[in-house]
Amino acid sequence: MESGREVKGLHVITWGCQMNVYDSARMTDVLRPLGYQSVETPDAADMVILNTCHIRDRAAEKVFSELGRLRLVKDARAAEGRRTILAVAGCVAQAEGAEILARAPYVDIVLGPQTYHRLPEMVARAARAAGAVIDTDFPAEQKFDFLPDAQAPQTPGGITAFLTIQEGCDKFCSFCVVPYTRGAESSRPVDSVLREARRLVESGAREITLLGQNVNAYHGEGPDGRVWGLARLAESLAAIPGLARIRYTTSHPRDMEDALIAGHRDLPALMPFLHLPVQSGSDRILAAMNRGHTAAEYRDLVLRLRDARPDIALSSDFIVGHPGESDADFEATMQLIRDVGFAQAFSFKYSPRPGTPAAGAPMQVPEDVKDARLQALQALLRTQQDAFNAGTVGRVVPVLFTGRGRKPGQLSGRSPYLQPVHVDGPDTLIGQIAQVEIRERYTNSLSGTLIQERAFA
Ligand code: SAM
Ligand code: SF4
Repeated sequence: MESGREVKGLHVITWGCQMNVYDSARMTDVLRPLGYQSVETPDAADMVILNTCHIRDRAAEKVFSELGRLRLVKDARAAEGRRTILAVAGCVAQAEGAEILARAPYVDIVLGPQTYHRLPEMVARAARAAGAVIDTDFPAEQKFDFLPDAQAPQTPGGITAFLTIQEGCDKFCSFCVVPYTRGAESSRPVDSVLREARRLVESGAREITLLGQNVNAYHGEGPDGRVWGLARLAESLAAIPGLARIRYTTSHPRDMEDALIAGHRDLPALMPFLHLPVQSGSDRILAAMNRGHTAAEYRDLVLRLRDARPDIALSSDFIVGHPGESDADFEATMQLIRDVGFAQAFSFKYSPRPGTPAAGAPMQVPEDVKDARLQALQALLRTQQDAFNAGTVGRVVPVLFTGRGRKPGQLSGRSPYLQPVHVDGPDTLIGQIAQVEIRERYTNSLSGTLIQERAFA
């Protein structure tokens, strides 16, 4: 903090995906020059930001109930003569900005995901204004051109970091709000991504996860003036000294180009783990969802990925109960899961999002049917995750250590397949990769022993 500047407390509450975690860190960066520093609790904060997610059910209700709690904090501080600026950011703000101001008039700022580079100006306006400030544009300027370089490591210790390279989506899946809340697909220029990556590595990151709603649709302007795809970007990132691991999420099957598949064969830094949502195994439902591929095309993609990188671990998202989903459609999804074999997955009951095509579609599936299907699907996925973890027991895997474990003397890290791994070992290994023999598996993690204490860079 520069001397002489008043220090103000900032408390950010984040819901939703990794992209929101990243956005919260960048909002913190943007506000730092104004004297804002992170504080642990809202009552110590001169500004509270709720960074919201609209992807599934009851998002807005969660926001309103949190706002109710924050209003009490704001009132209590006001009684002591202290002002609190209350901001709602993210996709709920984008989708329901007017409703927020109507139901919670004590909110000072409502800002969409594309305008957080304008936060300092909004804060200044809120400090002066009697009414609320709302900015949910999709501005012509790119917010990344107006943001300071990333400062704060986004994970404890900063050994692993997120970096947004692409935003928005124009695929318009029948069920999804993202094209409406995050706007059209756009990619950051290569130079800007590389600059941020180098900075993260200088401040200690050894692993970077590239983020985007459709990250493998990346098509940023390269330094040569040409359009670069994700494979070429990953190759340049892999050349940054000290950057050991690269991941990317979330990918769309339609954008999985041959060059990227080859990257999994040729680039050791590209980790053998891929989150590749399929949503359904039924061609009828995939068409109704507007996903743009068939179940057979997904199976073929998996074969090509495994051909390039035989140990690649796959993860996916599934939606059960999309309008029109019959028992046979659901069984096709179960069969696809059995055929592919997933290391992990996320699964959801379809929830109608206002304004999306599926929300108004006929043949909505009853809640109890959705419940039963979700249970069956999750049971199958659990068995597969367990089998995958069991398959690592007895193997030696390189683990990147990210911090201390919960028990004294314990370290915690990640396998190449994104599994949390715990071992007993010295703190000097934090930030290093070391070989670990996996001994035991638990529901969501593994434990093992170091077989090589000397870390390699
Ligand atoms: N872009 C990614 C893709 O195409 O797979 C997904 C991004 S979305 C933010 C994350 C996941 O939320 C989706 O893959 C989907 O499974 C789930 N999701 C999105 N809308 C949903 C809805 N209306 N009901 C249930 N799940 C939904
Ligand atoms: Fe949403 Fe992903 Fe479909 Fe885009 S591709 S509309 S982000 S589910």
